[in-house]
Amino acid sequence: MISGDFNMKKIGILGSTGSIGTQTLDIVRNNEDLKVVALAAGSSVARMESQIREFAPSIAVMWSEEAAKELSARVADTGTRVLCGMEGLLEIAVMEEMEVLVTAIVGMIGIRPTIAAIEAGKTIALANKETLVTAGHIIMPLAAEKKVPILPVDSEHSAIFQSMHGENRERVSKILLTASGGPFRGRKREELTEITVEDALKHPNWSMGRKITVDSSTLVNKGLEVIEAKWLFGVEPDKIQVVVHPQSIIHSMVEYVDGGIMAQLGMPDMKLPIQYALFYPDRRPMEGKRVDFFELGSITFEKPDMDTFRGLQMAYDAIAVGGSMPTVYNAANEKAVALFLDRKIKFLDIYDIIQGAMENHKVIANPSVEEILQAEAATYEYISGRRF
Ligand code: NAD
Ligand code: MG
Repeated sequence: MISGDFNMKKIGILGSTGSIGTQTLDIVRNNEDLKVVALAAGSSVARMESQIREFAPSIAVMWSEEAAKELSARVADTGTRVLCGMEGLLEIAVMEEMEVLVTAIVGMIGIRPTIAAIEAGKTIALANKETLVTAGHIIMPLAAEKKVPILPVDSEHSAIFQSMHGENRERVSKILLTASGGPFRGRKREELTEITVEDALKHPNWSMGRKITVDSSTLVNKGLEVIEAKWLFGVEPDKIQVVVHPQSIIHSMVEYVDGGIMAQLGMPDMKLPIQYALFYPDRRPMEGKRVDFFELGSITFEKPDMDTFRGLQMAYDAIAVGGSMPTVYNAANEKAVALFLDRKIKFLDIYDIIQGAMENHKVIANPSVEEILQAEAATYEYISGRRF
């Protein structure tokens, strides 16, 4: 070990080539006491190679075997070990030298590595919301049992977390989860029939991965975030209110029993919540544009239109049923968004697909990881069997 290594915080990143992953690496560049010990990505070999050369992790994982083989040949001159698939992700999760695992993979694939990392006592910086949505009932009690902190990276949940700092959580009366409203805010259903992939990928305030950007335009992202907040903060969904705030300056708020409201504000930049999770409870300096209230002039609020953007209401419905239903909500959405991005279905079909899958599902109460993955597979199968 290099001398002084004990002062370094050692992190692993699942999803290092994505939007959250690359921004996490920016934070590493700006903080000398962070050391990357493991990286994982889907298939982008070239990007992974350059990350390996810059950050010299002990392990790098590619999801596909083919990509792992190619990477392995390209980085044979480095000290990085290349692995593949779920086995590789699970090996990262339990690495002796790693202290914090940043879960920035997209989708339910994150469930098993997250559980393995908690079991191994690793702190989780959680971006992968699909994991909590589907397996929150397993993950939160396990984290409590293992005394492992789950630190939110999602900007709204980081804001809620920051707004609860030093407060008695039993005194929370309500969570006010803010939403930009997405690129189609204010439109009615008949104005959404001809939405293209390009339209949906234009987010007004945040720059993110493709799937979450589409989720923001349908308000499914906000629905997933309501469920994520329920699990992270132990607050029932009827106490989680979505407030549309198009300027995305207030990242979320918490109301207390005396009527006081704590909020976290800032420019819309994911680097802040990522860095906050990596150094919690410290608050490190960070460069960047600051909120200028005079330039801003005003900030505004609206009620979400859940009749048009049905994805949000369906999330409340899914969590009210509970058990395996949020898994079906999430899995049907994942599949529908993939079909939409492939131009196989229309924008509004996303809602019909989610609704159809939820109606078709026979709920399992308190599902195991196996049952969650089965519900996911059954949902995919059900959707594949439909004609579009
Ligand atoms: P992205 O699509 O930009 O990146 C996903 C990353 O995961 C990529 O590195 C990809 O290679 C990797 N990946 C995908 N499948 C994989 C697999 N099977 N094995 C290993 N790696 C795999 O996505 P993103 O926008 O960074 O989002 C990641 C997660 O963070 C999502 O759950 C999203 O909801 C959440 N999130 C993102 C943002 C944001 O600003 N982007 C904000 C809040 C929450
Ligand atoms: Mg968010």
